[in-house]
Amino acid sequence: MTLVVQKYGGTSVGDADRIRAVADHVARTCRQGNQVVVVVSAMGKTTDDLIRLADDVSRTQPPRELDMLLTAGERISMAVMCMALADAGIDAVSFTGSQAGIITDTAHTRAKILEVRGDRLRQALDEGRVPVVAGFQGVSTARDVTTLGRGGSDTTAVALAAALGAEACEIYTDVTGVFSADPRVVPQAQRLRRLSFDEMLDIAASGGRVLALRSVEFARNHHVPLHVRSSFTWEPGTWVVEEEPTMENAVVTAVTHDTSEAKLTVSGVPDHPGLAARLFRALADQSVNVDMIVQNVSQHGTTDISFTVPTTDVPTTLQTARAFGAEIGAKEVVADAGIAKVSLVGAGMRSHPGVSATMFETLAAAGINIEMISTSTIRVTCVVRADAVERAVQALHTAFGLDGA
Ligand code: ADP
Ligand code: ASP
Ligand code: MG
Repeated sequence: MTLVVQKYGGTSVGDADRIRAVADHVARTCRQGNQVVVVVSAMGKTTDDLIRLADDVSRTQPPRELDMLLTAGERISMAVMCMALADAGIDAVSFTGSQAGIITDTAHTRAKILEVRGDRLRQALDEGRVPVVAGFQGVSTARDVTTLGRGGSDTTAVALAAALGAEACEIYTDVTGVFSADPRVVPQAQRLRRLSFDEMLDIAASGGRVLALRSVEFARNHHVPLHVRSSFTWEPGTWVVEEEPTMENAVVTAVTHDTSEAKLTVSGVPDHPGLAARLFRALADQSVNVDMIVQNVSQHGTTDISFTVPTTDVPTTLQTARAFGAEIGAKEVVADAGIAKVSLVGAGMRSHPGVSATMFETLAAAGINIEMISTSTIRVTCVVRADAVERAVQALHTAFGLDGA
């Protein structure tokens, strides 16, 4: 018998009708002779609503209590899903992340999975039952409930697929697969039939939120094929798999964008060895996730350092960078939230020069100024003004021939 893990995102379980539709699909998959493990997200915008509630109630929000609150969303979904499955004639049983044996570190709100002890799930499967697991959560080595960061239900699903040796992990969402750009921004974006883990990693890392980055890392490390598809049309979607030697690599596969970061600039930094090391060590010690970094050419013995961080990390970053600036006699530290990143991703870039040049020419022709640039073997990223980013994505999508026929 084939085992599949099916993960359903927030929109897919957004109301009673959606939950019944998903239950019917799970029942159909079982009747076709498969074993199924279901992973559910919180219904609709429940997680956002719970975060708003915490913001209304508290300025301090102890991370342990925030996690306790947020895990409630997925708990509702798993229970109602089991009820709908019972109506569809399926013997289903719900498990919280903790009950499913998902053991994490103690980093509340962004915990990492350390181990999956899936024995209760295996037992349920052996008894012919369908386990329904609450996504996005686990239990820490200190026995507290933790969450895995936004979009973390994808990671739950892939971790369970790896631990249980599933044939594939199906990610059901509100689009029919992974597209050449966010279809909300580029209506003519094309669905990609097949993608390598490496390309999907860069797409997820540069803002294509259709899969959480950690879930793709997990899938690549544990060789779990992913199938991203729609819970509205049920048609086959995008497969994310190991790169095959015969795989045809497009020069540019996708254009992504990300509006979740801000740019910080420390100006007037004395040009001495070791100062950048001290700044970024101090930020790392505060668990700030620094992304792009640019240091200007030194003038009159001082230099400017700019870098991007998640908007949520701006208060901590400002505090840390200002303390550092005062210590070393820097001129000022400013934060700019009005930026966005636009990226090109494609495995074919490895063997095709000139992609960056075409990118810069396209942005110039659209009158869009580039503030920062970074590249990797299969990605080029530019920081632009946030209010220009959608125009940038559209122009690049057309320039690189992704609009289709
Ligand atoms: P879920 O709640 O199912 O986890 P998400 O909202 O996390 O769904 O992810 C699906 C959304 O990702 C889509 O509605 C789409 O707007 C967005 N998205 C961004 N980039 C892409 C892309 N390249 N391909 C497909 N969807 C994308
Ligand atoms: N409910 C969580 C979130 O909205 C986890 C998820 O949906 O994957 O981020
Ligand atoms: Mg998601």
